[in-house]
Amino acid sequence: MSKPYGDREVWFLTGSQDLYGPETLEQVASQSQEVARALDASGDVPAKVVWKPVLKDSGSIRRAMLDANSDDNVLGVITWMHTFSPAKMWIAGLDALRKPLLHLHTQANVELPWSEIDMDFMNLNQAAHGDREYGYMLSRLGVARTTVVGHVSNPAVQRRVGTWVRGAAGWAATHELTLVRFGDNMRNVAVTEGDKTEAELQFGVSVRTWGVNDLVEAVDAVSESDVDALVAEYQDLYDVVDELRKGGERHDSLRYAARQELAMEAFLTERGAKAFTTNFEDLGALRQLPGLAVQRLMAKGYGFGAEGDWKTAVLVRAAKVMGEGLPGGASLMEDYTYDLTPGSELILGAHMLEICPTLTTSKPRVEIHPLGIGGKEDPVRMVFDADSVEGAVVVSLADMRDRFRLTANVVDVVPPSAELPNLPVARAVWKPRPDFETSAEAWLTAGGAHHTVMSTAAGVEAFEVFAQIAGTELLVIDESTTRRGFADQVRWNQVYYRVAQGL
Ligand code: MN
Repeated sequence: MSKPYGDREVWFLTGSQDLYGPETLEQVASQSQEVARALDASGDVPAKVVWKPVLKDSGSIRRAMLDANSDDNVLGVITWMHTFSPAKMWIAGLDALRKPLLHLHTQANVELPWSEIDMDFMNLNQAAHGDREYGYMLSRLGVARTTVVGHVSNPAVQRRVGTWVRGAAGWAATHELTLVRFGDNMRNVAVTEGDKTEAELQFGVSVRTWGVNDLVEAVDAVSESDVDALVAEYQDLYDVVDELRKGGERHDSLRYAARQELAMEAFLTERGAKAFTTNFEDLGALRQLPGLAVQRLMAKGYGFGAEGDWKTAVLVRAAKVMGEGLPGGASLMEDYTYDLTPGSELILGAHMLEICPTLTTSKPRVEIHPLGIGGKEDPVRMVFDADSVEGAVVVSLADMRDRFRLTANVVDVVPPSAELPNLPVARAVWKPRPDFETSAEAWLTAGGAHHTVMSTAAGVEAFEVFAQIAGTELLVIDESTTRRGFADQVRWNQVYYRVAQGL
């Protein structure tokens, strides 16, 4: 079965010890293989699950963890103590492990065979206390992990394991990420700044800047025949307005947009980069702000942040990977303006241009309008409404001086209350959970950014896994959030995250 993450693997490690004798250990091996196979066969688990021989001593446990660390194909490690595996044997291995960890607390059987149960059965099926011994060591060593409880045949268990794999894949993606900044941040903006050195340690991302005129050179170097082909693709895929179509009076602007897309993609590919930023204040000799080009590149899986916002670009890239193969998509988003009608408040999100068309299943229109800011030629852009989705999420990443903070709000994307004939940008309209006032107050209390990633594919649980693996603070605003509880959480986190860093 082909998986969304292709050949990427998670390893399935089973803990035991020699005490049980060969007959029982053979059963441990075959039953744990069945569990691994069931996960591997699950459509909810997006990577291969690879069973490894049962671990019975400290040396082989340590070796398995070191091997997982050194194999770039391995997204993470699932562990299960089918029998009792004295946890001192796990100290060296857990201390060495640098990959994401899932503790699966399960057992081979669903029901107890009440009438047949004997001591052989009890000796074989003792995860109930084997996993407790192991959980003690994980907590004693302070190992970050996701714990999933239940039988592997339970769809909820498969979904949670799958969500952990997605979070682990997001973590791998930011560690494999090179990010290209075309120019610096928008002048005087605070929240889009941040510690790029710390980000490389915590998220693995390498954030690098080029002068925008390096991009201008690449734009100039694109061949006319490549532009011809891409323009034909646009006319095929989208409703391109007449003035931009071949023969239309502004067709040259569409050609320039295509030129920008080709140049940017080539520039990024050459540097192995999967995310980038632009800044409308710093376009050098570019004739128009890249709108269509950025929208198209996001749709191809690139992370993007506007105004030099590299942190949101990292989140967009992570969300793209975590949502791989799921319906929906991920985009840069900005809380723009509100409908404050009491009881039915809505947030209208958009950006100058750069909203990713993976948020819609409709056919976008390609249009050209003035930007009204920046003093350049009118930019080409896709215009559409985001699809309605329950349980989408918007997430921001802010630098709080001593640490990064992720803030997430679970939201329901809804149709606009009326047509928006005069708004020439792609947009999303949503109702934040638990309600507008609580959400906005909590967001402001957290100091969440105005830029976010909106994800309608990967949900808040994948971001929770990502944050936990990265050791990053995550404040979630959802249906269970209260004003008082949230304010307390922010206060307590100030202490926790400072103490947790040590000296
Ligand atoms: Mn912005």
